[in-house]
Amino acid sequence: MHQTVPAFLQDFLQTTLSSLTPECPEGAISGTLSWKWLGHGAILFYRTNIQSSTNSYIISSGIHGNETAPIEICNQLIQEIAQESISIQGNILFLFGNIEAMRQNKRFIDDDLNRLFSGKHHEMPQSKETMRALEIENIIQRFIHDSSQSSETTFVHLDMHTAIRGSFYKRFAIAPFKIGPMLSKTLVNWMGNAGIEAVLLNAKPAGTFSYFTSQLVNADALTLELGKALPFGENNLEAFSSVTLAIRQLISGGEIPVASMTPKVFKIINELERKTDSDFRLLIDDEVENFTAYPKGTILATDKDYQYCVTHEEERVVFPNRHVKPGLRAGLMVIESDIEPHIAS
Ligand SMILES: [Zn+2]
Repeated sequence: MHQTVPAFLQDFLQTTLSSLTPECPEGAISGTLSWKWLGHGAILFYRTNIQSSTNSYIISSGIHGNETAPIEICNQLIQEIAQESISIQGNILFLFGNIEAMRQNKRFIDDDLNRLFSGKHHEMPQSKETMRALEIENIIQRFIHDSSQSSETTFVHLDMHTAIRGSFYKRFAIAPFKIGPMLSKTLVNWMGNAGIEAVLLNAKPAGTFSYFTSQLVNADALTLELGKALPFGENNLEAFSSVTLAIRQLISGGEIPVASMTPKVFKIINELERKTDSDFRLLIDDEVENFTAYPKGTILATDKDYQYCVTHEEERVVFPNRHVKPGLRAGLMVIESDIEPHIAS
């Protein structure tokens, strides 16, 4: 028997931006599909006829508030699930990250939310983002607790972003540091289907959302960079159709076709560091694309007695950003690797 889809699920993005709280925090969509509101920006769909081994998915967007295309894609997927135009397997949590920054079309208000996870928010003065990071960690803990009725539950986390600048590889992923295999073969194949051209393997712990979930429940986690950041309403969602289709395939539990491409693998070998407010110079133009290559000997950043000079034959820069606070990274340096991500350690 079909129930009516609650109004707040028909446009969950609007519900979230308007800070609406549902009258009742949970309900049924059909005899076997239910939903639960886990807090502002967090909606869980789950099957009530659960099997002993099940997949649980976290699909997040808006960790940076002005990266709107993934937010619009999630809103659309939420609608499709609520109307049962796609059928899901397992548990799926959709989460909108930095809601206040989304309202203001800003990357963040006080602090970059994607540097504050795994308790890093405790080490900082309280801000809008430190409070939201704690809130999100609690939502994830609750989701994991509710989902892990079976020890065979596996977790997949896709944290979707768009980038400030263009990219040589239009779509790419960052796999959080993990001891042992960093990603499952399924997720590597999924990336190929989603049109992800490159994957960066992170070599150390980070304050990112995907690192948090990968450590907490050994989630198969990825930060995804899917294109360029544009304001709400200006995105051409067609350009993201391979990703949206691949997510639909993943969460509906169907067979994922063998991908015709596999992403190129890069390892992160170093970071550009901003140490001071006054003396930091990033010698990379704002128009330079992610994955631009620099030859050995090129100086890319200076700060008092610090300088970053390329030491490999060729190094590529990803996420160069001069506008970070002192003490934070102003860019990642990567080189191509022949490691396979599902056997990396
Ligand atoms: Zn982002």
